[in-house]
Amino acid sequence: MQALILDAPKQLRLVEFPEPEVGAQDVLIQVKACGICGSDVHGYDGSTGRRIPPLVMGHEAAGEVVKVGPAVRSFKPGDRVTFDSTISCRACQFCLRGEVNLCDSRQVLGVSCVDYRRHGAFADFVAVPEHIVYTLPASFPYERAALIEAVSIGMHSVKISGIAPGSAAVVIGAGMIGLLTIQILRYLACSPVLAVDVDEERLSLARQLGAEHTFLGTDNDIAERLKRITNGQGPDYAFEAVGSQSSVVTAIESVRRGGTVTLIGNLASKVEIPLQTVVTRQLRLLGSCASAGEYRECIDLMEKGAVNVDCLISAVAPLRDGPAWFERLYGRERGLMKVILEP
Ligand SMILES: [Zn+2]
Ligand SMILES: [Zn+2]
Repeated sequence: MQALILDAPKQLRLVEFPEPEVGAQDVLIQVKACGICGSDVHGYDGSTGRRIPPLVMGHEAAGEVVKVGPAVRSFKPGDRVTFDSTISCRACQFCLRGEVNLCDSRQVLGVSCVDYRRHGAFADFVAVPEHIVYTLPASFPYERAALIEAVSIGMHSVKISGIAPGSAAVVIGAGMIGLLTIQILRYLACSPVLAVDVDEERLSLARQLGAEHTFLGTDNDIAERLKRITNGQGPDYAFEAVGSQSSVVTAIESVRRGGTVTLIGNLASKVEIPLQTVVTRQLRLLGSCASAGEYRECIDLMEKGAVNVDCLISAVAPLRDGPAWFERLYGRERGLMKVILEP
């Protein structure tokens, strides 16, 4: 089969590659669409230590089942499916509690680090265990399905925040995850839903997707302005989808006393936080990692049209054009959101 392989930092090539082995509980999927994730773009220069060459990246994918292992019960060749990016063991204490994203032996498709190497879906075929595979509705396009993983990340953060319908929420960072989170908050009838970003174009997209008021992150006193629009108190919840020093501080300083800040972005490995603000205003800070089985719900929301991902797809291109698209994304070309490759 053909696969896009990362040979060395920033060196991608389309090569002939051995087809994956299909274990007893595995489903072999012919990949129809696979999205390029921000983590692939950040990782492919070697800086994150999670894309150690040689590696076939790609974990946001969908396709058609072509073969199943002898122990597989729920799928058969011809099924249209997507799959979780995270492979969990189903046996450790975390998995048994349903916290599959925190599994003791968690592996992410298309990732290689010191502990493991798991080839991903920038290839004609990928094999994954049955328990992370989900059926797609008949008319659900594969390109759209490649965004379910991103939707699930927004969904997981909203769920663990414990937000109640009607709460005021601000999303800091209107990139892919932020824009999806805004739509999920709107669906939950949160009000107002506010958005902050440094890019006016992204803010206009945020308004289009349901943010009632948006704020340019480069302006001064963002926290004060967010308070003014929420009865002088500040939003009940902040969702931080960037992970930089200034955006984390903005999230902390903007929520009301007793408010909750859910941290999704982690661009910087360390930031300094205003500790006294967190303590004296009794804030809750939560980290949110990937997702924990929210795929089914996300598919439903997307099918209902409550979450629109089509406007976030910048390009759909053949797998062989992958190296050029990685370069453009790595060069932070303006206006690019999700690029999907088709093997
Ligand atoms: Zn991803
Ligand atoms: Zn586990």
